[in-house]
Amino acid sequence: MKGFRLLLAWLALTVTPVVALAQDSALPDYSPVLPATKARFWPIDPNKGYVVRELKPSIFMITDGRYQSLFATSDRGVVLFDAPPSLARYILPAVTEVTKQPIVSIVYSHAHVDHIGGAGLIMKQNPQLEIVAEEGVARFLGGQKDPNRPVPTKVFKDHTTLNLGTSTAEIKVGYWHSAPGDLMVYFKEQKVLMAIDTMTAGQTVYMNYNLTENMDAYMKVFDQMLAYDFDVLVSGHRSNPATRDDVAVMKGFVTDVYETVKRVNAVDRKALVGQAIAKYGRDNGYPVARVVVDAVVADCEKEINSRWLDKISNIDVFAASQCLSALNYFTFDVGPR
Ligand SMILES: [Zn+2]
Repeated sequence: MKGFRLLLAWLALTVTPVVALAQDSALPDYSPVLPATKARFWPIDPNKGYVVRELKPSIFMITDGRYQSLFATSDRGVVLFDAPPSLARYILPAVTEVTKQPIVSIVYSHAHVDHIGGAGLIMKQNPQLEIVAEEGVARFLGGQKDPNRPVPTKVFKDHTTLNLGTSTAEIKVGYWHSAPGDLMVYFKEQKVLMAIDTMTAGQTVYMNYNLTENMDAYMKVFDQMLAYDFDVLVSGHRSNPATRDDVAVMKGFVTDVYETVKRVNAVDRKALVGQAIAKYGRDNGYPVARVVVDAVVADCEKEINSRWLDKISNIDVFAASQCLSALNYFTFDVGPR
């Protein structure tokens, strides 16, 4: 990794401005971040690398601008929720900045390394660290044997409630993102919800709806979130938390993509199929399928960009992949009726 970074730095220094310009113009055009989205970013001191803020009494969020981690002070010490590797070295200083309490426990939101791969470092700082996870995540990590994601020490099934002294965290497993399980964490007294990799405040989610492994559950997660009485959502990415309104906007987007791809999929494409068969051969089905899927996705992407570019930042970057996920969901899970 270090070697790779050095190589990149070296390349940046040696490439002449003329070559750099030529490469830039070859890159695709994408929309910039909308000013309204930018205005909500938490400013981060580059010398410090992170920012920590109290979201609500006793609930804090840390971010480095890319990832988010949450922690709660309690009568037995700090309970941490997630430790993304990019943030891990900042977690202890951030906690120390706001409380004298030690980190006594970490809860894994899901098994993905980009959200909990810093747990190994937190455990090095406190070998007695309690690690809480749902049974599916615990089973998965048991098979991974990854020192950066130490195996949970306290495993629950389906749901649990953490007593934090003056408040509680109601935790329930869901499957909107990662197959072994995801956690919906609700701090009832503070009206804070944590649902990692559901969405990003004001911005697109990563490709294929954040690489969801369960589109049906993903389609339903927005209503599940809105059923909680919350006003702050921590969803894991970028620098600022989301609001109820952000969730409603994202639900509208996901619904629109699905309805759009369903409609453009019903368009008669016999002419295109005919051309594809003529070119690739009747016994060569995959290229034929590919051009049809590409055409449906391109029609969907065009419509979606026209309606959502001014509402959700960077929606054009992954619009085609979201259309493809919705098309596959409609074709194989829902089934044309
Ligand atoms: Zn993830």
